[in-house]
Amino acid sequence: MMKLPESVKRLIDVLTEFPSIGPRQARRLAFYLVGRGENALEELSQLIRELKHVKPCAACFLIHQNTAPFCDICADPKRNRAIFMIVEKETDLLSLEQTKHYQGRYCIIGPIPKTGILEEWQKLRLKHMQSLIQKECGGVADEIVLAFNPSSVGDFNASLLIPELRTYAKKITRLGRGLPTGGEIEFADEETLGSALEKRSSEGG
Ligand SMILES: [Zn+2]
Repeated sequence: MMKLPESVKRLIDVLTEFPSIGPRQARRLAFYLVGRGENALEELSQLIRELKHVKPCAACFLIHQNTAPFCDICADPKRNRAIFMIVEKETDLLSLEQTKHYQGRYCIIGPIPKTGILEEWQKLRLKHMQSLIQKECGGVADEIVLAFNPSSVGDFNASLLIPELRTYAKKITRLGRGLPTGGEIEFADEETLGSALEKRSSEGG
């Protein structure tokens, strides 16, 4: 068995832990990196070092690099502080922001497990949003929007959260009536997403 340099072996181990990267791909990436040459590696390691200054927003959990604890959205005084939108992923938030049709704030809850039982950190995020509503909206927000994909999984996720949120908002709405069934927020075009935002519908009582 041929021996690889220790640093390359360790890099392969680290890369193998990345999402959707198997050992074979990790080896390929490691060899690719080694082949990039000194300058490219220096630049890449500098970029990676800077990531330690990136942190989650203290309100919505979007990553940012501000000195203040809040992201640009939460720090923006023009945003409507009485409307919250729950999204699963940062990438969903970014797609929704691009439409410029939404002026409220967000809460990034993370991917909801198929078991229907939220992870502890997800429960904390939900609690955090509830306490923001307590502190800043007198206990009841004007609206909580559930931005889940228009699919049976999205319906399931909504049915999980609605009981937790009902007392915290005058109305709970959902996106997606304008989105194609089975479509994903992240990949929807701006116009479709914009109209799904305009036409959000109330989720019962
Ligand atoms: Zn934020």
